[in-house]
Amino acid sequence: MSQTVLITGSTSGIGYGLARHFAEQQFNVAVHGLADPATMQEITATLHAAGANKVITHDHDLADPTACKQIVHDTLSSFGRLDVLINNAGFQHVAPVEEFALETWLKMQAVMVTAPFVAIKETVPAMKQQGFGRIINICSAHGLVASPYKVGYVTAKHAIVGMTKTVALELARDNITVNAICPGYVRTPLVDAQIPATAKARNISEQDVIETVILKAQPTQSFVQINEIARIASMLCDPAMVSTTGSVFSVDGGWTAQ
Ligand code: NAD
Repeated sequence: MSQTVLITGSTSGIGYGLARHFAEQQFNVAVHGLADPATMQEITATLHAAGANKVITHDHDLADPTACKQIVHDTLSSFGRLDVLINNAGFQHVAPVEEFALETWLKMQAVMVTAPFVAIKETVPAMKQQGFGRIINICSAHGLVASPYKVGYVTAKHAIVGMTKTVALELARDNITVNAICPGYVRTPLVDAQIPATAKARNISEQDVIETVILKAQPTQSFVQINEIARIASMLCDPAMVSTTGSVFSVDGGWTAQ
């Protein structure tokens, strides 16, 4: 029987890269993200071509706290089991705290904290019944350290580290591991979109944002590659990795070692 993975926010960037990686390992893949039907069809075809056994898609907006409940239950009814849950969906907003809109703050916490909580809450009973589960939260270097003008994001990512550790302790004897991966900067639409806002907030050019803000944070002076994140995710999903739980894996070019 094929293993199954649900990856939130897998229509783009890191999540899409993870979906392709698991497809290559013949998983059943539940794709999720804000994408139109044509894009979903294209993604489904790509994942089948990469080797996925079955592919299903979801386009729920995770600002709705009940969305993840529906996504998890649909995935379980389509695939019969859920081996790997990857909470990945997220977005960035850059603004000084006094200009940071409350509405944006609430949406960030809904998508990046409440949705993972609901997804985990709804998945755990099935994982317990199976006697196996792997939960991976895609966090960020911003789950460990802060940067100015990102109060909503940094707060949400720090919360995810706490959630990872707490749930790992609760599930420690159930063969369900819970870990977080904390990437540094990866060149995805999320990063591209924040370059103009960061330039405005810091009053510098967009090129300066790349050179003096983004790549400056990372001693390697280069973007993190998605396949580096996928390799850690794969390792964590190995059934032999039973003792690695409640851990936080940095893939950040040395950013948080400083
Ligand atoms: P991306 O913009 O390429 O993809 C984001 C995904 O999340 C998309 O599939 C999008 O549809 C989905 N999404 C966003 N808002 C949503 C909503 N309201 N409801 C449902 N789905 C929603 O971004 P990415 O860079 O691949 O980011 C993926 C994850 O990795 C995020 O959690 C992000 O915080 C984290 N991360 C990214 C970087 C980076 O440099 N790109 C670094 C560290 C952590």
